[in-house]
Amino acid sequence: MSQYHVIVIGGSASGLQACLTFGRAYLNVLCIDSGYPCNRYAKESHNFLTHDGSSPAQIIAKAKEQLQKYPTIKLMEGTVRNVCKDVSKEAVKHPFRVEVDSPKNGTSNSFMASRVLFASGLNDNVDKIPIENIEKFWGNYVIHCPFCHGTEFRNGKTGIYYTNALHLKFMLPTLHNWSQDIAVICPDDVYGSLEADFVSAMQQKSISLHKGRVVKLEPRSSEDGRLGRAILDDGTAIELDVLYTIPPSTINNKEIITKLGVELDEMGLIKVSPQQKTNVEGVFAIGDNTTRMRALAFVVGQGMLAASSICHEILHERWNA
Ligand SMILES: Cc1cc2nc3c(=O)[nH]c(=O)nc-3n(C[C@H](O)[C@H](O)[C@H](O)COP(=O)(O)OP(=O)(O)OC[C@H]3O[C@@H](n4cnc5c(N)ncnc54)[C@H](O)[C@@H]3O)c2cc1C
Repeated sequence: MSQYHVIVIGGSASGLQACLTFGRAYLNVLCIDSGYPCNRYAKESHNFLTHDGSSPAQIIAKAKEQLQKYPTIKLMEGTVRNVCKDVSKEAVKHPFRVEVDSPKNGTSNSFMASRVLFASGLNDNVDKIPIENIEKFWGNYVIHCPFCHGTEFRNGKTGIYYTNALHLKFMLPTLHNWSQDIAVICPDDVYGSLEADFVSAMQQKSISLHKGRVVKLEPRSSEDGRLGRAILDDGTAIELDVLYTIPPSTINNKEIITKLGVELDEMGLIKVSPQQKTNVEGVFAIGDNTTRMRALAFVVGQGMLAASSICHEILHERWNA
């Protein structure tokens, strides 16, 4: 059975950066990826130095091209089905067994590693958001982050639809930087919990406030696929260029991760130390599954950090052997 210093689960932004660091330190790394990064819906990525405006696929293709010159990096298409830790003496050097289904030949394989790194991201569960047509607009006209896509909608007709009042209170002053033409849409409970001061600040800034739920999104026309309007549950139509919302994201592979004994935090993300270590010895995690700071630059930084921590551990073990 093949043995690796590290197996990285997830070969997108965070995972591939970790691989680059391992490859440059001559550690044997296997990176397994099933090919569904969360940003695959977006036509363009922004705010990532040297790649502002590139598509997510272009960024990954460039990363893979640059990894080719490092012979200890192996990239594999596949889906990790299980990870278990063998604590017996025989398995002391490579205690992790990672089981992988390969899409190419439909076979399953197992690989052993001394460390595992979960870079396997989030599922935004967009299909579970009860808004008709949301999948057509998600990532391009329905967005979650002004730092990623706000500039493209500067001064545009901006809708804000949060099902949590704290998100609204935190984000509204920030989003007001990108456009002053704002419609806030609040479900009943959020609407009812807004303080008079906050509502009056919205009025002073000519922000329109609507009570209701967004039930449908429509394009500008049958020829123009850009977002045109949001329809509320009472039938009100609000003209929009962009709608901000927060999807009900959950970590991928929750069962595999928790079965290993890895702890999650109160938001359901993987709990990690400043070196990206989980509470289970040898298990590390990076990327969106560990942070609400969802941005390429940030998760790439985590990839470098975790990989260098793992390199230090392995190289010190080698020194002391
Ligand atoms: C719509 C959208 C647009 C965005 N736009 C921007 C932007 O413009 N600029 C910016 O800085 N950030 C942007 N972000 C945020 C950025 O995309 C994420 O922070 C980043 O992709 C997270 O990287 P990651 O490696 O943690 O996870 P992901 O990129 O989500 O990758 C996780 C990978 O793990 C794989 N995987 C999961 N489970 C398994 C398994 N069991 N076996 C094998 N592989 C597995 C998946 O297939 C996937 O390829 C955007 C996010 C979204 C949702």
